[in-house]
Amino acid sequence: MNIVLFGAPGVGKGTQAKFISKKYNIKIISTGNILRNEINKNTILGKNISNVINSGKLINDKLITKIIKKYILKKNIKNRILLDGFPRTINQAYSIDNIGLNITCVLELIAPHNTLIERIIGRRIDLSGKIYHIKNIKKKINNSKNKLIIRTDDNIKTAKKRIKTYLKNQKQIIDFYNKKSINKEIKFYKINCNKTIKEINKNISKILDNLKK
Ligand code: AMP
Repeated sequence: MNIVLFGAPGVGKGTQAKFISKKYNIKIISTGNILRNEINKNTILGKNISNVINSGKLINDKLITKIIKKYILKKNIKNRILLDGFPRTINQAYSIDNIGLNITCVLELIAPHNTLIERIIGRRIDLSGKIYHIKNIKKKINNSKNKLIIRTDDNIKTAKKRIKTYLKNQKQIIDFYNKKSINKEIKFYKINCNKTIKEINKNISKILDNLKK
């Protein structure tokens, strides 16, 4: 089973990806994390892309597709994969087929604009990539020895730009997966993410448990 987690910045893809990965033993491929890793390691690629990420724009399709292709080849994984943050454009959606990844299921995570902004602005991450929100930090920080940081692109200006970019590309990708769903090539589900994390976990579990049957 290979899954695409699709949705706007701040909708909770990272949090849900971790839940799915743990419960169903599926490997997460997060393009955002791969790119941030390059920036943190100060590689040539990292240096070239940090401005693009910090301005809320997308890395160009050719480059990101090359990166993901290389990653999959290196890790030698084609099954039990969850794509978090890829595809983000229609060209990227086409390229998944070319890479030879067989997508079983697309989960579109949905939340209102205000919720997205609130989640992005309140997001904190620790060095292991674990995601927190300032609302819940008091309780959880006791369990974390790591320092919490704010992603450089998690500010209001960049957040708005990232959401705008998402909205520009969203329709084409959804149409693409709708067609595939009608042709019974994939399963396509919409998940209301304007709920608590636990409620969203439960709804996703219902879908994935059914798919396994
Ligand atoms: P994320 O962690 O998924 O929010 O991604 C953070 C940033 O990385 C995005 O705002 C983009 O600049 C870049 N990025 C991540 N995934 C992609 C992708 N599939 N295509 C282009 N840029 C991406």
